[in-house]
Amino acid sequence: MSNGFIISAYIISSILFILSLGGLSNQETARRGNIYGMVGMAIAIIATLLSDQVSNYFLILIPVAFGGAIGAYFASRVEMTAMPELVAILHSFVGLAATLVGFATYVDPASHFVGVEKTIHDVEIYLGILIGAVTFTGSVVAYGKLNGSIGSKPLTLPARHFLNLGILIACIILGKIFIDADSTSSGMLPLILMTLLALAFGVHMVMAIGGADMPVVISMLNSYSGWAAAATGFMLSNDLLIVVGALVGSSGAILSYIMCRAMNRKFLSVIMGGFGTSSGGGGASGASEQGEVTSISAQETAELLGDSDSLVIVPGYGMAVAHAQHLVSELTKKLRDKNVDVKFAIHPVAGRMPGHMNVLLAEAKVPYDIVLEMDEINDDLGNTDVVMVIGANDIVNPSAIDEPDSPIAGMPVLEVWNAKNVIVMKRSMASGYAGVENPLFFKENTRMLFGDAKESVETIVSNL
Ligand code: NDP
Repeated sequence: MSNGFIISAYIISSILFILSLGGLSNQETARRGNIYGMVGMAIAIIATLLSDQVSNYFLILIPVAFGGAIGAYFASRVEMTAMPELVAILHSFVGLAATLVGFATYVDPASHFVGVEKTIHDVEIYLGILIGAVTFTGSVVAYGKLNGSIGSKPLTLPARHFLNLGILIACIILGKIFIDADSTSSGMLPLILMTLLALAFGVHMVMAIGGADMPVVISMLNSYSGWAAAATGFMLSNDLLIVVGALVGSSGAILSYIMCRAMNRKFLSVIMGGFGTSSGGGGASGASEQGEVTSISAQETAELLGDSDSLVIVPGYGMAVAHAQHLVSELTKKLRDKNVDVKFAIHPVAGRMPGHMNVLLAEAKVPYDIVLEMDEINDDLGNTDVVMVIGANDIVNPSAIDEPDSPIAGMPVLEVWNAKNVIVMKRSMASGYAGVENPLFFKENTRMLFGDAKESVETIVSNL
C-alpha cells in the first residue's frame, strides 16, 4: 500500500483519537468519545497491517488472535469493581512492550546508525527502555495494591530517598557509558544494568505510596504508559504511535495534576512516597473508642427520607461493590416524584479509578444535572436535611480536616457532617482504602445503616 495512503489513515486515526479524548471529558458525549476511539484504533491497525513494513501476515495474525482472545475473555468477564486493576495491568503491558521493543531495536542490524543519528537513536532506546521498565513493574505493584494482594500501607525503607537518588545517578552514568559504546556487545551490559535498576525503581516507587495517594499513582502510570508508547514510536519510526503516546502521556499528566489538586498533594511529595505511615487512629477493625455509634433500620431511613425536603447522596466504592447503582437510581426517581430535592455529591477520588462514580451513575441513568462535583456542593451541605453516604468512607472522613497527623490530613473531603442528618450505609465499622478510622460514624447526627448497600436500598425503596 502506498505511503501516502498510510499517512492519510494515520492522520484520520489521530484526529479520531483527539475527538475521543474530547468526548470522554463529558458524560453526555462519553459514549460517542468511545466510538471515535474504537474506529480510530481499527483504522490504525488496518493501515499498519497494509503497510510495507508488514511482510509476514502469519507471524502477526497468530499473536493478534491469541492476545485478542485473551483480552476479549478477560474484558468481558471483568467486574466493574475490578476495572481499575485491569487498567493497571494493561499499563504494565505497554511498559513491557516498550522494554522489549527497545532491546529488539538495539540488536536489530537494520537499525544501525552512525554519528549524530546513532546518538539520537541510542537516547531513544535508552529512554524508551527506562520509562518502559518503570511503568512495567510500577503497574504490576499498582495492580496488586488495587486488588488487595499487596497491602495499601506504604513501604518506607530507612534510606529510601538516598536509594532513589542513587538509582537516578547510576542510570545517568550507565546512560553515558551506553551512548559512548561503539558496539552492540559493549552497550548491552549498561543497558541491562539500567533495565534492572529501572525495574527495581518501579517496584520501590509504588510500594512506597500509601493507599490514599494511589489515585495520583494510577494516573501517573497512565501517563508513563503513554510516554513509553511514544518512545516505542520513536524507536520504530512510527508517527501514529508517537502521536497516540504523546496524547496518552499528556492527558495522563493533566489527570495526575487534577488528582493532586483534588487531594491537596504536591506531585513530588506523592512520588517520594511514605504518606499513610502514621497511625491516624485505628486500623481496619475500627476498634478504638471514639464514642457511641447509633444505628438505624432501613424502614426508619425510608420514613426519614419520605419526610425530608432535600437529600444529598454520596456514593463511594461500596456502592460499586454492592452493584447498588440501579436501585439508587430507582430510589432517586421515587423521591423526586415525592418532590424531595435529590442531588449527588461526587468526590474526585471516590471509588477506585478517576470518574468511577460518574460511570456507575450514568450506567444507571441518573440525570446528569443532579450529579455535582465536590466543589459545587460542599457549601450547600449545611442546608441539607439528609445526606446518605452509600459505601463511602475516606472521602467523608473529618479527620482529613481535624487531625493534622492523619495520613489523609489536608485532603479535601465532602463535609457531610454539616447536614442535619447523616445516614452511612456500610456493612461494618471497618475503615476505607486508606486504613484510617472515621470519626463521622460517631457524630451525634450520624446514623449507621449496617448491611449490604444493595439490600438496604432495596428495603428503603420498597418501604417508600
Ligand atoms: P473507601 O474505600 O474509603 O470506603 C468504601 C467503604 O465501602 C468501605 O468502608 C466498606 O465498608 C464499604 N463497603 C464495601 N462493600 C460494601 C457493600 N457491599 N455494601 C455497603 N458498603 C460496602 O471508598 P471511598 O470511595 O470513600 O474512597 C476511595 C478511596 O480509594 C480513597 O482512599 C482513594 O484515595 C482510594 N483510591 C481511589 C482511586 C481513584 O482513582 N478514585 C484509585 C485508588 C485508590 P464495610 O467493609 O464496612 O462495608
